[in-house]
Amino acid sequence: MSHQTAHLRQLDKEHLWHPFTQMQAWRESESDPLIIASGEGVHLTDSEGRTYLDGNSSIWTNIHGHGHPTIDAAIRNQLDQIAHCSALGFSNEPAILLAEKLTGLFPENTLNKAFFSDNGSTAIECACKMSIQYRQLVGEESRHEFIAFGGAYHGDTVGAASLGGIGVFQDRFSSHGYKVHRIESLDDLESLPAGTIDSVNAIIIEPLIQGAAGMKTWPPGMLRSMREWCDRNGIFLILDEVMTGFGRTGRMFACEHEGVIPDFLCLAKGLTGGYLPLAATLTHDRIYNAFLGEYEELKTFFYGHSYCANPLGCAAALGSLQVFKEEGVIDSLAPKIEAFSARLREAAETCRHYGELRQVGLIAGIDLIDHQTGGPLDWKAETGGRICRAARRHGLLTRPVRDTLTLMPPLAISENEISQAIDALVKATHDVLG
Ligand SMILES: *Cc1c(COP(=O)(O)O)cnc(C)c1O
Repeated sequence: MSHQTAHLRQLDKEHLWHPFTQMQAWRESESDPLIIASGEGVHLTDSEGRTYLDGNSSIWTNIHGHGHPTIDAAIRNQLDQIAHCSALGFSNEPAILLAEKLTGLFPENTLNKAFFSDNGSTAIECACKMSIQYRQLVGEESRHEFIAFGGAYHGDTVGAASLGGIGVFQDRFSSHGYKVHRIESLDDLESLPAGTIDSVNAIIIEPLIQGAAGMKTWPPGMLRSMREWCDRNGIFLILDEVMTGFGRTGRMFACEHEGVIPDFLCLAKGLTGGYLPLAATLTHDRIYNAFLGEYEELKTFFYGHSYCANPLGCAAALGSLQVFKEEGVIDSLAPKIEAFSARLREAAETCRHYGELRQVGLIAGIDLIDHQTGGPLDWKAETGGRICRAARRHGLLTRPVRDTLTLMPPLAISENEISQAIDALVKATHDVLG
């Protein structure tokens, strides 16, 4: 190990607190932190010069690969002008153009307005607050509760976390957030009593697939049925496409698979191609118009963040949309998804430690099982985590969801690299489990 790497590791352990990380184990680990020094295409290189496939797109963010010349140039050009200026009372060109381009990805007169914020959690908070305030503005203030799913993950700010249905992220804070009716399925939704429905403002879902729950897929047609249920009951549909947006499922947005337009669409992770923190909450004119009025009516949406509509982030997002167009990215996905699917199925069938495989587009989860009983492993053994650390030796970086191994490569990955990623995961599984 180089002197510089050793020095950085020591400083990291002294001063840096990492997200979702048990810092005791981290500090005791010989191999942590892996210090990522550079990235090119689907590869990351560490401070020791070792190269890895970015198997989870740097936690589900990267789309076109690292160091894409179009996005790099978009950011550099913007940097020559200005890095940041406020959107409170001013505007800027990249934000204006991005709002036009994003809303232009949907049929005319549907999702016509874009509100920019910083990350997935703030995109969700923004949708929640807009929808709650809308109800107040139109005299429906009793409709302020939410319906959300078991296993859901919508972010870590207090409001977004309260919508989540994963115990370890949510339980400690559940009494602090929105009032939530927790359901597990479309059947649950359709059997909610009328008295409950009357107090509901909106339902929120990760369309097609729940990420942090362990890549759990929803039955086909469910989204369409939810849209119809919302329309019948006057309830807003909030789609959290923070993970599924920007080609991950094989279409630009997951909602396109079922021809559904939500009332609020939340976008973040892949919005800038995975370069910079930026989020968007899209909604339609009916919502927006309810906030219009004289200053003293106090209908204003009093919500924002210092870096809302940050020009560098918006320029990166414009660069990413340009790549989608110029490189025909969405059209290039079908054969990759097919290869991904075939290779994953083969691995799931041949490796005795693999149970259920779930896949949508270039998102996959494979459950680890006890090969003797066929049941789940003891989560306390942290097998998924150990396998993913072992995968480093085979040139793959990814992160499990407990004992579900996940792969979600950048859309720019080749079929060859897809095979390499899956081979590495299988080898690492055998290293750890025999
Ligand atoms: C990551 C994620 C979020 C939260 O986004 P952050 O940028 O981490 O705040 C919300 N919803 C889904 C589905 C996500 O995957």
